[in-house]
Amino acid sequence: MPQISFATNKRQFHIELNDRVKEYFKNTNQSQRGNTKLFFKAFFIYAVVIATYVALVFFQPWPLWVNLLLLTVFGTFLAFIGFNVMHDSCHGAFSNNSRVNDIFGYSMNFLGAECRFWKVKHNVLHHTYTNVDGVDDDIFKPPFLRMSPHQAYNRLHKYQSWYMLFLYGISTLFWVFFMDFTKYFTDKVYTTDLPKKTMKDHMSFWLTKLYYVGVYMVIPIIMVGFTKFLIGYLFFNFVMGNVMSVVFQLAHVVEGTTYADASETGVLKIEEDWAVYQLQTTYDFCPDNKFLTWALGGLNFQVEHHLFPKVSHVHYPEIRKIVKETARKYNVPHNEFNSFGEAVASHFRMMHSLGKREPVMAEVRS
Ligand SMILES: [Zn+2]
Repeated sequence: MPQISFATNKRQFHIELNDRVKEYFKNTNQSQRGNTKLFFKAFFIYAVVIATYVALVFFQPWPLWVNLLLLTVFGTFLAFIGFNVMHDSCHGAFSNNSRVNDIFGYSMNFLGAECRFWKVKHNVLHHTYTNVDGVDDDIFKPPFLRMSPHQAYNRLHKYQSWYMLFLYGISTLFWVFFMDFTKYFTDKVYTTDLPKKTMKDHMSFWLTKLYYVGVYMVIPIIMVGFTKFLIGYLFFNFVMGNVMSVVFQLAHVVEGTTYADASETGVLKIEEDWAVYQLQTTYDFCPDNKFLTWALGGLNFQVEHHLFPKVSHVHYPEIRKIVKETARKYNVPHNEFNSFGEAVASHFRMMHSLGKREPVMAEVRS
């Protein structure tokens, strides 16, 4: 893995921000982790997923429109498990009890992928080295997608803003059947070595894959037949992959974010404090939209999430006010899109621009 360092002489913003957030939790007498509302939300989302699965697999035939509706709800709510339960749990933010976090972290395995790999990919690489080429696996999708101006250009990229939704739509399949296996057999996430596998890790990986094939494929094939299964399986994965990918990409691959490169030299000195760098690479979107704030598990508050990943997403609307005030005081950017449409359009334009040999980069505020 490349050696990356952040400036250490500009920490005042970060120190004051940490102090103010700590003070907020002390004054309001709240835990930084999830609350009862979050547990009920997790229960509700799991209930919807199980109910739609049962309806789709065991109560056929339904009219076509009902099947499409059920599959859309199933795919969307699987993504909601990722956003609301798995993400908080894998960060240790779901509950005060670390065992509860570990158990709910297996929500990733419930979706078919290995949580151990995701914790390294996301918590360590993506969160520490956001948008850094050579480390952040989230923006490394060669040869089809170019998600940073530092990555090699090829002629396909010219069309990437047209075909990216198709690739997002198959991303969950790619994850379950290819990326997880690559990580398992190479013991690496992109350029970073994974810790040595224990017997428990081997068991977790293979049991997850066995469970996935059984529950998501074999049982539906037995109950509804192969053709119906295949159409339904591809359809809900398409929905799930797009919901997940678009929501994650809106935070970092939009106009005005910054990109660093450690892929060539293997050494990188970032001339900003880590917290300031997070603000330069990250956007919030629709902070006032109640439904998205509920459904996306705080992923529309990615600025706050990147600064305080161990704080549960239920607190981000309040934390945002503190971050904005402190950022203003230190003249540091706090980037956000007011509407979902604005954020999606910016992602499309950014991908279109990155599809050119010489991308036109919007000015990065600093
Ligand atoms: Zn995260």
